[in-house]
Amino acid sequence: MKIHLWILLFIILAGFISTCIADSLNPISDSLMIQIAQENTIGNNDSIAVSSPGTESVDSNFIYPMPPERKALLISYSQFNNRWRFIEFFVDIALLALVLFTGLSSKFREWARNLVKREFLAVLFYLLFFMIFIYAISFPFDYYREYIIEHEYGFSNQTFGDWFGDTLKSLAVGFVFGVPVVWILYWLIKRFKKWWLFFAVGSIPFIAFMMLIVPVVVSPLFNKFEPIKDQNLAHEMVALAEKAGIHNPDVFEVDASKQSSKVNAYFTGLFGTKRIVLYDTTIKNFTVNELKFIMGHEIGHYLMHHIWYGLFMAVIFIFIAGFLTDKFMGGIINKQSRRFGFSSLGDVASFPLVMLFITLFGFVFQPFSNGVSRYFEYQSDKFGLELSGVNGDEAATAFDKLSVFNLSDPEPSAIIEFWFYDHPALIKRMENVKKLYAQTK
Ligand SMILES: [Zn+2]
Repeated sequence: MKIHLWILLFIILAGFISTCIADSLNPISDSLMIQIAQENTIGNNDSIAVSSPGTESVDSNFIYPMPPERKALLISYSQFNNRWRFIEFFVDIALLALVLFTGLSSKFREWARNLVKREFLAVLFYLLFFMIFIYAISFPFDYYREYIIEHEYGFSNQTFGDWFGDTLKSLAVGFVFGVPVVWILYWLIKRFKKWWLFFAVGSIPFIAFMMLIVPVVVSPLFNKFEPIKDQNLAHEMVALAEKAGIHNPDVFEVDASKQSSKVNAYFTGLFGTKRIVLYDTTIKNFTVNELKFIMGHEIGHYLMHHIWYGLFMAVIFIFIAGFLTDKFMGGIINKQSRRFGFSSLGDVASFPLVMLFITLFGFVFQPFSNGVSRYFEYQSDKFGLELSGVNGDEAATAFDKLSVFNLSDPEPSAIIEFWFYDHPALIKRMENVKKLYAQTK
């Protein structure tokens, strides 16, 4: 059997397995870009929702405090998520390997070259073919994970049309930002021996630019951002920011309920686009004191410049990944050039190979970046507690609600937390705020 048949078989099998696992699930794992652009306050990585599906308003009386049926749901959803993390990883690898080993990537490049002569346009068309193919072939997985499962667990009541529209928007956004990045990457590879050094340095202004414009250009494509409607709450939030020395803060309420009933809040943006965003779902289900603690936590990210550390981590990642790509991919291409249909890293057809390597490396790198992220979260929890002045039990209730509303496992296994969680386990955060508060008395 030829290798690409094995890959195809693997994909079909992976698809079958994932559809059989009819437990619970977890939202989209966002792109690195979105992750570094958002310091979300609460929630673990299950709840960063930029374009993820969602639900409608929830009657909190039925959810909190948690009835036993919801506890069972929480366990099943968490188990599903744990499995899905691995399924998603293997599916990603398999899809990229498929495009690479079947020679499809070199065909995409061939078609693009036949269509247009200019290098930039050839990259543009190559990426268009590549992204549409990946989108189409991974559609069943995305549909299952983000639509079926999210509906099954009651998070989403989006129509298929709305959800589908969001996926197309995400595809378009990825394409618009992807084209210049990929073009510059290959332009550098072809001209410089130490291209990875230039690419890592050049990524600094690019990522900063992304952080600057995503909140004002990209996020509004998916949701509406408005000032907090509840005047009393708006007053409390602004007063809290003023207390921390932030004048005229931008605090927004987002209609996240359009996609999901999950609760969250986040800090994002750079310079003039810095903002704290509270989900309407959070505002609806949390008390003013709980919201003050959450807001205080976000202000902590804001004032401790966590977003800049996030950018720094991303650049380190790009630097090491680029260096390793340069060091090892050439040998692989030499050995497999007939199968791949290209013979140098400077050929844009090598893009799936680069992505494959970055996916593998990203998986290995994850515990490091997540470890740093968890440390920031503890810092912000402490800051939020002190600034808001709420007591330890109220802060702990905010975390408990996060767990219950988002069906997020408060006590994941140590290895799952270590590897995948960019926020500490909720049980630890609850114990931590109670302990910190007790110390102040
Ligand atoms: Zn946070």
